[in-house]
Amino acid sequence: MLHPGAPAVSNEFLAHNYHPLDVTVESGEGAWVTDVTGRRYLDCLAAYSAVNFGHGHPALVAAAKEQLDRITLTSRAFHNDKLGPFAEALARLAGKDMVLPMNTGAEAVESAIKVARAWGYRVKGVPAGRATIVVADGNFHGRTTTIISFSNDEQARADFDPFTPGFVSVPYGDAAALEAAIDGTTVAVLLEPIQGEAGVVVPPAEYLPAVREITTRHNVLFIADEIQSGLGRTGATFQCDNAGVVPDLYLLGKALGGGIVPVSAVVGNRDILGVLRPGEHGSTFGGNPLASALGLAVVELLAVGEMQDRARLLGERLLARLRILVGHGIVAVRGAGLWAGIDIDPALGTGRRVCELLAERGVLAKDTHGSTIRLAPPIVISPEDLDWGVDQLEAVLLELAVAQTGYR
Ligand SMILES: *Cc1c(COP(=O)(O)O)cnc(C)c1O
Repeated sequence: MLHPGAPAVSNEFLAHNYHPLDVTVESGEGAWVTDVTGRRYLDCLAAYSAVNFGHGHPALVAAAKEQLDRITLTSRAFHNDKLGPFAEALARLAGKDMVLPMNTGAEAVESAIKVARAWGYRVKGVPAGRATIVVADGNFHGRTTTIISFSNDEQARADFDPFTPGFVSVPYGDAAALEAAIDGTTVAVLLEPIQGEAGVVVPPAEYLPAVREITTRHNVLFIADEIQSGLGRTGATFQCDNAGVVPDLYLLGKALGGGIVPVSAVVGNRDILGVLRPGEHGSTFGGNPLASALGLAVVELLAVGEMQDRARLLGERLLARLRILVGHGIVAVRGAGLWAGIDIDPALGTGRRVCELLAERGVLAKDTHGSTIRLAPPIVISPEDLDWGVDQLEAVLLELAVAQTGYR
């Protein structure tokens, strides 16, 4: 219990596939959320970057409300007046020809796998049934049975087999290993430009350009999973922009729905996405009018460029402060834009413990892989609130260091 007296909201009927912190959120605005007791917390997770533009962003809420009163779902059996404009705006934002709309991130990944395989057989001429996709160790691309088939996370895989074949995993950040894994059956390389769930793992600067060069030379698709790294988080529209590369397919999700509804997409050129023919792939909710209205509003927000600039400037501020803490309770810090992975000194406690103590001080963050915590506040956060959040982390580290010394 973080705060005695918090009214119990029963979760008895809920499947236990998550182990959340003991905070029950009731409302939110901008970078702040309020729990059922009225206590406020600075949201430094932003729903894993799905809330990049803050809770209740006025333009996004207005777009949702306007569309709610018109129509929300038509299915793709008919056209709707929002999907075409959304697809055009998103394609233009990405500098590509076409958009395949889906709902969740995992569906975008699954869709790209299907597109890459079909492209491999129909365009590249890979022998039937042999297509392979090269992925990276430490990846996180979602939770479906096919996607966990190429995960290295045993927790994500145990007892969920048998797995889908056709994937080869190589060390992340190692372009030579990636090239060595490519053969005549390879249709695509699927990578996160920065590995988010792995702990905001940023590859060497030369890695993504090398991947682009290698995939082009071998006539293999480069699929960038920008579901967490894209749409402003890293101080650019796509993390691939920061790396100076253009992938063949962008996978987008999370922030694409403005934190209001799930919206995901595969974005690419006609020579690749054009392989899909009517009836081969689909989704009841994909491209629905409500999702499209929100996706369009998100793209309009990003087209201004202000969010990207803000993430870059605030990120510099955040990382400058975090770097000072290295050696003082923090072992290492990585980041890009307003996105930081912080390795806590394991001697002080687990990432989970740090997140619990942060919550007691009014900051919400989430641990990953034992001793790493991630900070990804909404980009609309004020510089003062960001500083305050880091102050709380400093205080928690000090508290843990004092406790540790005291016990000796
Ligand atoms: C979250 C995430 C996904 C999966 O998205 P869901 O909407 O949870 O299915 C895929 N790839 C990356 C990089 C992600 O961060």
